Amino acid sequence: MDYNKLCSIVFKYGGFWDVVNGKSRMKYVGGSQKTLKFERDDINLLLLKEQTESLCRWLRGQAYDLHYHINGTSPKVYMPINNDRDVMDMLRCSCNENKVEVVVVMKDFDEIFTNADNIQYGDMQDLSETSRVNNDIIMDGLCDGGFVAQVEENLALCVGSRFEDSSSFKQAIRSNAILQNFGFKIKASDKSRVIATCSYRGCPWRIRASLCSDGHSFEVRKLQASHLCPGVNRAGNKQATITWIANEIKDLVKRNPDITPKDISNNLETTYGLSLPYMKIWRSRELAREQLFGSIDENYSWVPTLKSELMKRNPGSHISYLCDNQNHSFKRFFVSFKVCIDGFFAGCRYLIGIDACHLKSKYLGVLMAANCLDGNNGLFTIAFAVAESESKKS
Ligand SMILES: [Zn+2]
Repeated sequence: MDYNKLCSIVFKYGGFWDVVNGKSRMKYVGGSQKTLKFERDDINLLLLKEQTESLCRWLRGQAYDLHYHINGTSPKVYMPINNDRDVMDMLRCSCNENKVEVVVVMKDFDEIFTNADNIQYGDMQDLSETSRVNNDIIMDGLCDGGFVAQVEENLALCVGSRFEDSSSFKQAIRSNAILQNFGFKIKASDKSRVIATCSYRGCPWRIRASLCSDGHSFEVRKLQASHLCPGVNRAGNKQATITWIANEIKDLVKRNPDITPKDISNNLETTYGLSLPYMKIWRSRELAREQLFGSIDENYSWVPTLKSELMKRNPGSHISYLCDNQNHSFKRFFVSFKVCIDGFFAGCRYLIGIDACHLKSKYLGVLMAANCLDGNNGLFTIAFAVAESESKKS
């Protein structure tokens, strides 16, 4: 065999094109690489595609692009490989070194930059030795057919799934990541599409959802569901952000606004296998309450409106509201409906019991009530009020 006729091809795959900050140039980021040797005369487009697909099984049946590095250019300049003529050009560029670099990119990543035709592809980011070693081990496993993570059985995320908007789609990705213990990155997110990938270098998992014709909902159009990463230990705890938890527990909090953090914790543990710190859950519950019922401060500002609305709907009632003269903050609120007053005079014993209980919200205070007994010896409320404390003033 004439060794001069052997040519090494360095395949770089699993990464994507990224814009170099502030420059109209692209660099290849992430992924791993493998060097294979071929006889120069055997190299053609079909061979490159065959080799690419045996290295990256997940690319079978998917659209992807090949680019080659023009030898000697620095920062690196890449040219697309579309036909056998491009392959010939590639070999001509490398006749001195007998080594070429071929970059594999899934088609979707190119779509992100469709408006950047004048952008030069260049500058491969150096891969650290350790990550290459790790990826090689994983790739070997894959070639033996020993390690293929299948997550397709997950019904929540599949091609065709619809989500109300982009944020509920992201919420679903996060839930999936927590359930399956992997990290993810949002690669692109704008009005028309959301693309997420696995955060592990070289792992092919990725999902893409696009805006539907109704202008708000998002539909999953592409999903590469297999992971080649080892997963992240306790990734769930890191991925479970307060916003995610708040969204997740919204229904629980709606049914029972006073649900304890411990109950929420038990719930998240059975559903997602998460064990989260008490304070994180407490803050999430506060956020969920705020999203559902508005903030406490905001609600106090509605009291004057509540008063006028109650008066409008219950004419003849006695309702009064007192606020601080200086800063207009809430002081007292008294309600006695006309029906209660009429009921008291019509059928109750003229003996009134008054009591109060302490309120445990942010601003404390007391809830006072005036009750009496009706003809059946049942409790009958005549009036109630919220005040700062039980005092002669109030
Ligand atoms: Zn992964």
